[in-house]
Amino acid sequence: MILMKGNELKKIKLRELKNKLELLNTRPGLAVIQVDPNEASMVYTKSKEKLARDLNYTFKHIVLSNNLEENTLINVINTLNRDNDIDGIIVDMPLPKYMNKVRVVNSINPNKDVDGLTIMNAGKILSGNYGLIPSTPKSIVDLLKYYNVPVEGKNVVVIGRSLVVGKPIASILTNMNATVTLCHSKTLNLEWYTRNADIIVVAVGKKDFLRGYMVSDGVTIIDVGINSVDDKIYGDVNFLEVSKKASYITPVPGGVGPLTVYELMENVYNAHILKLNKR
Ligand code: NAP
Repeated sequence: MILMKGNELKKIKLRELKNKLELLNTRPGLAVIQVDPNEASMVYTKSKEKLARDLNYTFKHIVLSNNLEENTLINVINTLNRDNDIDGIIVDMPLPKYMNKVRVVNSINPNKDVDGLTIMNAGKILSGNYGLIPSTPKSIVDLLKYYNVPVEGKNVVVIGRSLVVGKPIASILTNMNATVTLCHSKTLNLEWYTRNADIIVVAVGKKDFLRGYMVSDGVTIIDVGINSVDDKIYGDVNFLEVSKKASYITPVPGGVGPLTVYELMENVYNAHILKLNKR
């Protein structure tokens, strides 16, 4: 069994990105907007800020209070859309319930949509003519490539159909010539799919969701889940059981998670280069 170590790949990819940044005499810029953030999203934003500052990116952090009008938020986004120092805009989720999330997200200029969530970037994933890709599916593809896990012709099962993970990774792996089944809470007889899978991507959000009896020998497991129980972080996979059968498996913590903030910074760099090339 081989552990797919996101930490290790992150170090390698960071070195490559730093080398590319040294060749620039301009700075990429990232802005994060949060509306009434909770503690967990403040912590996550701090980790983005830390890496952005390590890379010498311009970083703007805008915190807005609850009960502001949706149009006020959109005006802030439009200001950042026009700001030449900013290449990437993130609107942190969740937004207050009274806001129209789709309208807010799609007011971000798709060329600055470094979370890859606008309709334009999601559509580009379907077409295979990629724009900015969400950081978690990017991390998964990079891990599969780094560990030379073959994808073409393989049976892949993705469990979870969110816009940030399940749907984009299912599309990308389909574009990479895998045969992909996208499962969700209404899937009947999930074990039938998972037992026939060469690669399983689990993005459900439930500790111990994928058990040993549900998988076949030699399977590759990508555990996306982040579940906090008694101040400890667990994935969606029962690691003890499943790792006995898997050829490759991502640990939690230390697998997909550490790569995602890096991938975000790579998106900001790519958006910056796109802007420079358009001048
Ligand atoms: P999500 O929006 O929380 O949705 C969960 C998905 O799991 C839904 O599609 C749901 O199906 C499916 N599901 C729930 N119960 C199921 C069941 N019994 N059988 C099969 N499918 C079931 O998904 P998400 O935002 O992708 O988050 C999933 C997990 O990944 C969370 O733990 C989150 O914290 C983590 N995450 C990690 C990263 C990272 O970078 N490591 C990034 C994003 C998310 P329905 O659609 O039918 O409801």
